[in-house]
Amino acid sequence: MPKIITGRGFHLISERERWDIRQVLIFFLVSCTMAACGNSLAGDRRTPQEEAAEALQSTAAAARTQGDDPAGDEPGVNQSKAIRVLSMTEENNYPDGLTFKLVAEANKAITKINLYYHDQSSESLTIESVEFIPGTRQAVSYTWDTSRFTVTPSIKLFYHWVIEDDSGQRLTTVEQEVSYDDLRYPWQELADPDLIVRWYEGDQSFGENVFRRARQALDQMKAETGQSLEIPIIVLLYANVADFASWHFFVQDWVGGQAFPSLGITTQIISPRADPSWIADVIPHEIAHIFFFQTISSALSSWPSWLDEGFAQYYEAGGQSAALSRSNSAAREGRLVPLTHLSGGFGRDPEQVGIAYDLSLSAVVFMLETWPEGGLQALIENVRQGKNFNAAMKIALGVSIEEFEAAWRTWLGAPSTPSPSATPRPTFEVILPPARATTASP
Ligand SMILES: [Zn+2]
Repeated sequence: MPKIITGRGFHLISERERWDIRQVLIFFLVSCTMAACGNSLAGDRRTPQEEAAEALQSTAAAARTQGDDPAGDEPGVNQSKAIRVLSMTEENNYPDGLTFKLVAEANKAITKINLYYHDQSSESLTIESVEFIPGTRQAVSYTWDTSRFTVTPSIKLFYHWVIEDDSGQRLTTVEQEVSYDDLRYPWQELADPDLIVRWYEGDQSFGENVFRRARQALDQMKAETGQSLEIPIIVLLYANVADFASWHFFVQDWVGGQAFPSLGITTQIISPRADPSWIADVIPHEIAHIFFFQTISSALSSWPSWLDEGFAQYYEAGGQSAALSRSNSAAREGRLVPLTHLSGGFGRDPEQVGIAYDLSLSAVVFMLETWPEGGLQALIENVRQGKNFNAAMKIALGVSIEEFEAAWRTWLGAPSTPSPSATPRPTFEVILPPARATTASP
């Protein structure tokens, strides 16, 4: 089990080094070629090439500060002796702000100190120039003020300092990783390499129940897709609406939870008094959103909403029969919605939203029953490789999206092509697919 430290101060988490290294490499290879990077670098005279060179210096500096170069006498590393970092710390006042602190000294007067940071959702560095009076010893800080916007709890930040003295020596510190946790609550935690569940109200058995639900759903997803997670999923359980709202700059009072798939984090209002059946539905649902985001994540392709919401519901413990029955009714009554209309948002009308969710689930169940062996895995693999969804479906399932939709409509008991001028009537009795035992109790 990974050692997750949630106290004040931040720590490199060795189990995640592979992810960290990839993040850093991707950042330096990609971000500075992007226009957004140009914006974030406004005011800094260095070119992207110089930034990349600095990244290499950063690596060298890491080796130095970690003691890999005890002699320190090879060319180009003398600056590590000319400028020395005495401490790098952070003060977490979530949700109001995060203060980065640096103490450094140098043989010559330190004249410039910059903080470079970005959060895990962005590849663009923000640069902050710290003001101070030049001198050989400096204790400086910079506060990232988050009091005026919403920052997801436990989001990760990456930062380093660049220190220069008046002789032109420069020291770039090793990249630091920070988890901006909500430390206002006495979190308890259960964790394994895939999953971290944190709660602060309720006993151990409450946390274990949520963890077990999440773990079972995750195991099922991994088995059925052949995929695994790149970063662990964090489930944060807030005990009430007020606590949940307290870290949002604004949130509608009907929101019961959120998933942040790109961060691997879901925040939920779930207390020990919550209905167990709600927990058994909502936890696997949110886990599925994050799991599928990670497994199909591609810069070149996307996953339609009907698949995303369909799979999220598929892993709920409450079963599928009610939603499938409503989908069959919709087919009989000519209320089917084309899948192309379910690729983005589901709208605001409660009735429309309801049928959109039902049909999404039915399309996923249809896919899994029609292509029980390898279809889903092949679909994911092709989307991962960057193929657009229609092309991926053609390769993985052997049908176009139009052919898939026609077969799904027939499976539901509707005419195979939409007929806007006539009320479609089923030509045979609709037979409900049997509920899957695995989805009734994931
Ligand atoms: Zn959902």
